[in-house]
Amino acid sequence: MYQHQNFRPTKAIIELENIQYNIKQLREHLHPATEIIAVVKANAYGHGDLQVANAALQAGASMLAVATPEEALHLREFIKEAPILILGATPVYFATFAAQYDISLTVFSLDWVNEVAKQAVNFKKPLKLHIKIDSGMGRIGVRKKTELTALYNAIDANEHFLIDGIFTHFATADEEDSTQYNEQLATFVSFVESLPKKPRLVHAANTAATLNKEDVQFDAVRFGISMYGLAPSPYVDKHLPFSLKPALSLESELVHVKKIEQGDKVSYGGNYVATKEEWIGTMPIGYADGLLRGLAGQEVLIQGNRVPIIGRICMDQCMIKLPYEMSVGEKVILIGQQQQQEIQMKEWSDRLQTIVYEIPCMLTSRIPRIYK
Ligand SMILES: *Cc1c(COP(=O)(O)O)cnc(C)c1O
Repeated sequence: MYQHQNFRPTKAIIELENIQYNIKQLREHLHPATEIIAVVKANAYGHGDLQVANAALQAGASMLAVATPEEALHLREFIKEAPILILGATPVYFATFAAQYDISLTVFSLDWVNEVAKQAVNFKKPLKLHIKIDSGMGRIGVRKKTELTALYNAIDANEHFLIDGIFTHFATADEEDSTQYNEQLATFVSFVESLPKKPRLVHAANTAATLNKEDVQFDAVRFGISMYGLAPSPYVDKHLPFSLKPALSLESELVHVKKIEQGDKVSYGGNYVATKEEWIGTMPIGYADGLLRGLAGQEVLIQGNRVPIIGRICMDQCMIKLPYEMSVGEKVILIGQQQQQEIQMKEWSDRLQTIVYEIPCMLTSRIPRIYK
């Protein structure tokens, strides 16, 4: 396999074993008949779609889920057998490709079904569809039972379509308060029960519902964030039914080390001013890699010490304050463990006032993913 060489020492290390560990933990937790749908959208939350998909299938997942046609086709090019579901809306003209490449689509519009039906005579294999119910998320999906009946009947009547599943998505499963969650669940159950025949795969739970709520497993769960070893929310983190192992660590190296004197300035704007003699290290990672400027002040690990990023983060580089003189080439951990210390993605998301999901997704393609 072609592998280009990485010259720049900034890299994300992905431990596929940890992804498999998280899936195996989930497997133990689930009812034996419940299938695991591995959610590998957005390049597997930045971890690498093919590598994660293959590892997940090996560890017990039976289906892959993505968000877009492009993501599905990229997987299908290399993964021939496993079912792939696109969770988002797809354009009508993609349906022919979906049928040809055995990609299951999400459906929630009768107009869409009628338009696709016009090209369906050319399908060599039936197009697999999962009906989406909007039980309260307010994103995509059927909101009325009459709509569901009409949609179901239109699909069922066409030999070029196959109803393979029905699903919904929860808006608040990661919270302690179950009010909206319970309403959504009741709505979904009554919609499913209104069908003349239960589709093969009824699924509702994302990670948070799988780990945080009872009795929502149905035929399958959609396992995303915690497959990567991250908790969906601080609340779920405190109530995890099993331990998780984060799969991604981010590291770099010092490319320059210098001593500065009192009054010397560091980086754009000259805002950082040394109050005394200091050792400063420069790292080749910046906001174009996903180390956003809002992360100035965030600590990194070097020789087991926690030290801060100082001054403004540049596009490709940033500076850290060293506790003492160190050599060029010294390893720096931005996310992950070193000696007794650990920096979790949660620290970054807290600093950026966002959710942990954003952190691996924002590491750009300039950072090579290295697999262990
Ligand atoms: C992204 C997504 C998931 C996975 O969510 P996690 O919180 O990462 O488990 C599941 N279902 C749908 C419809 C999604 O869009």
